[in-house]
Order: sequence, then C-alpha cells, then structure tokens
Amino acid sequence: MTAGRMKAAIMDEPFSIAVQEVEIPVPKENEALIKVYCIGICGSDVHYYEHGKIGRYVVREPIVLGHELAGEVVEVGAKVTNVAVGDRVAVEPGVTCGHCDYCKSGRYNLCPDVAFLATPPVDGAWAEYIVMPSDYLFKLPDTMSYEEGALLEPLSVGFHALLRGQAKPFDRLLITGLGPIGLLAGQAAKLFGVSEIYGTDVVPLRRQMALDLGFTAALDPAGEDVRERLAELTGGEGITLIVESSGNAKAMADTIKLVRRGGKIVFVGLPAVDAVPMDMGQLIDGEIDAYGVFRYANTYKPAIQALQHSSANMEKIITHRYALDDIKEAVETARTAKETSIKVMIYPNMP
Ligand SMILES: [Zn+2]
Ligand SMILES: [Zn+2]
Repeated sequence: MTAGRMKAAIMDEPFSIAVQEVEIPVPKENEALIKVYCIGICGSDVHYYEHGKIGRYVVREPIVLGHELAGEVVEVGAKVTNVAVGDRVAVEPGVTCGHCDYCKSGRYNLCPDVAFLATPPVDGAWAEYIVMPSDYLFKLPDTMSYEEGALLEPLSVGFHALLRGQAKPFDRLLITGLGPIGLLAGQAAKLFGVSEIYGTDVVPLRRQMALDLGFTAALDPAGEDVRERLAELTGGEGITLIVESSGNAKAMADTIKLVRRGGKIVFVGLPAVDAVPMDMGQLIDGEIDAYGVFRYANTYKPAIQALQHSSANMEKIITHRYALDDIKEAVETARTAKETSIKVMIYPNMP
C-alpha cells in the first residue's frame, strides 16, 4: 500500500491555486494508482482558472485541474489484470457509464454520465498520484516517452476529427488555428497518410512550429489573402478537408469559402460567442459536409500503434516545463504568454 500524503494543486476560486497536502487515494478493486510523471496544461484548465466555469460546468468546490497525463502504475486493485505495477501508461481521462446507447454504440464521448477529469465536480490530476479504473489506462511502448503519453490526449482530438472527416492520403487538408490541438491534428494527419497539410494562424511562433512539424505551408489570415494563396498552393484544385480548431467566429464562417465543392469541414474549436453566422446557401450549393467534434472515442490504442511507425513528432510543441510547486507560474505562462508558449507541461514528481 502506498498510504500517506501527497502534493496536489488545488484551485479554490479563479486565480487562486496552490499546492496542498492531501491523502494519497486508495485504488478500488478495478482501479490502479498512478504516479503522475507528466501532465499538460490545456486551454480548458486555463479557462477554469480564469473564469471558474465553462458553459454549464461551474467550479463550486475546490478542484484539482489537469487531464492530459501519463505516469507509472504503482499499485493495482485485486481485479485489475490489464496493467501491472511498473507499467508506464497514458490515462484516458473520461470515465463513461458503459451502458447507455452512446456507450454501447461506441460513441462514448457523447455519454451523458461521463466523469471527465478536471471537469467540475470531478478532480483532475495536477497531483503526485491519481487513481483511475484500469480500463482507461494504455500501456506505452518503450519507444514512447511520458511526454508523448500525455500528449495522446490532445492528439486524440485531432485523430477523432480526422476519423469524423474520413481523411484520405490524397486529401488537401487545411487546419485553421495552430495551437496544440491544431498542431497535433497535423501530426495525426500524418498517421492517416495525409501529405498535403496547410495551416493558418495569426501568431508567428505557431506558424513556424507548423513548418517545423512538416506542414506544407503556414499562412497568416491577418496578413495575406488565404483563399487566394491556397488556390495558388494547390494549383487551383482547392482544399478538400478542413479541421477548424481556432474557435474564432470569423475563421469558422470563412471555412465555407475555403473548402472546395464536395469538401468536408470538421469543427473542433468552440466559439466564444453564442451563434456564428454561416453561408448556408454555399454549404448547400457545394454539397459541403460539416461535422462537430466533442473530445474523442476509441483513439488511444490505434494512435499508440500508429505513432510507433510514423514520423509524427508531438514533443516539439512543448515550450515550457514546470515542477508542481510552480503551478501558479505555469498556469500564468499558459494564460498570458500566447506569443511564446504552445504546450506547458507539469512534472509532479520532478526530483
Ligand atoms: Zn485537453
Ligand atoms: Zn454512457
């Protein structure tokens, strides 16, 4: 038994977060205790830190944030057979009910009873240890680092978006918004064999990162005519698939002008406004398919398998690394350093 105390970063109200000592959780018979080595800061974590809520999810009790993690199994419950002490694992952060229509049909990301880490009232994992049902643990091959294990979570969003949009090797893909989700969607696209990948973002660092990660071109929607440039770059053929990950209302509306007739648009980024006006006439006239994406389902296992044999590079997007004790500085970096940071990582067991 790993009984004792551990450190956890607890947020009690917006802008108030501090490391405190709490009990190390004890795994039930179907659970494992994970020593957390690496955990990312997500846009949603920053949003809870700033506003204390996202839509209908409101922080009412002190909460531990963080849901993008990998670590080592250090204890297992009596009925756990799929992982053992010493295994390095990635953690899929949404525990679903298992018996609703959505769960049974494989679309468990739509389960109404999901308990998702760091979504109130469920605690996340900016802590030294966490317990999870062992079904949600995925063994990392020796070739994958804990960092890559943690990045499987945001990668999964892009992976799922490409599954929704039925990405093909010969797609001419445009990814709008080159934050962690957009950049990792570009890496996921490599797993689908897509080789022609364009990106747009107003932040120079993000465009440079996209080029470093093998995007075909990265355009600045504030400084150039994206539609014209894409026509040039594709030899007049046009974009067949868009993954919209900016959540910017104008960028969302513009996707209909940027995709070619018969193309597909997958909407990932959540807009900050209630309604986004869309040119439905053009959507109908062009037989454009539009999809929404909410998190992901059944992505961890196939993504781990595909990553082992690909040239995708995820770790490059990590620009900042912090110990758990420096959580406040880490979250402030993710919140304010938009021009210089992409993915900020926390290391709860950093010596
Ligand atoms: Zn996330
Ligand atoms: Zn369910």
